[in-house]
Amino acid sequence: AVIGNPIEHSMSPEIHEYFASQYNLTNFSYKKILSEKATLDDDIRSFFSNGGTGLNITIPFKFSAYSLCNRFDKTAKQCGSTNTLKIDEGEIVGYNTDGLGFIDDLEIKKINFTNSNVLILGAGGSAISICNSFLNSSQDVKISILNRTRSNADNLINFFKDSKIEIHNHKNEYDLIVNTTPISMSSEQISLPKDILSNNPICYDLFYSKHRTLFQKWAYSHGVDQCYDGLGMLIQQAKHSFFIWNGLTPETSNLESKLRII
Ligand code: NAP
Repeated sequence: AVIGNPIEHSMSPEIHEYFASQYNLTNFSYKKILSEKATLDDDIRSFFSNGGTGLNITIPFKFSAYSLCNRFDKTAKQCGSTNTLKIDEGEIVGYNTDGLGFIDDLEIKKINFTNSNVLILGAGGSAISICNSFLNSSQDVKISILNRTRSNADNLINFFKDSKIEIHNHKNEYDLIVNTTPISMSSEQISLPKDILSNNPICYDLFYSKHRTLFQKWAYSHGVDQCYDGLGMLIQQAKHSFFIWNGLTPETSNLESKLRII
């Protein structure tokens, strides 16, 4: 299952059911669970005690779910947050596949970030995973953070303590902008500074939809040439989660275009 709030928009069930169909897995189901901060612990524990084996964690629970884990893989530990849980000998093990999925999707889309100036919008769970994957890559990247709450951006920068990550400066010119905030989920107008687009960066919204997201519309309306949504990343992070649960790496080619027309 996938647990979050909101959860209705999630396309993870379609993706995992498609993966399972490649292997004729019997007894496979993947559901959406709506949770609340106050009930998250109980909801996760009762999912596993009722026979659940694998759980994805989405907005806004990636940090809270981390504190519930008994063990972690290297990436979850590096990020202090988790998007994938597995039960192993009665213990909850936390993994983080978001950053891996994001980098896989950049490769699929042939987005080269070597020597890039990257701006990350947001400083939450997915921002941390993406920063972590950029830092773990062998490429030279400079990362700037712009977040609604300045102190949370500072916390993220202090968390990594790496000279490659700094706070956004309005004089910077960017090659790649990654929106890790949920602003596309809202009906409010986007109020980001337009000068972040001055270098015609490639833009990438982690939010996804069958149609252009609000952030994509905003970026295109200000002259950007390329702006993707996060469906490709969702598929790729799901591929890694599926492997963690089932030991199988499903085929993902053409799935993004299939999901857009379902
Ligand atoms: P999160 O941990 O709750 O972090 C959200 C971040 O966005 C925080 O930095 C928060 O700023 C900022 N934010 C929240 N509401 C905002 C608003 N109205 N205006 C400006 N900034 C706002 O969430 P997350 O787990 O990182 O997820 C963020 C988004 O990424 C969601 O839309 C989620 O669906 C998407 N996502 C997609 C994938 C994928 O595979 N495509 C994977 C992971 C996440 P403050 O510090 O000020 O609170």
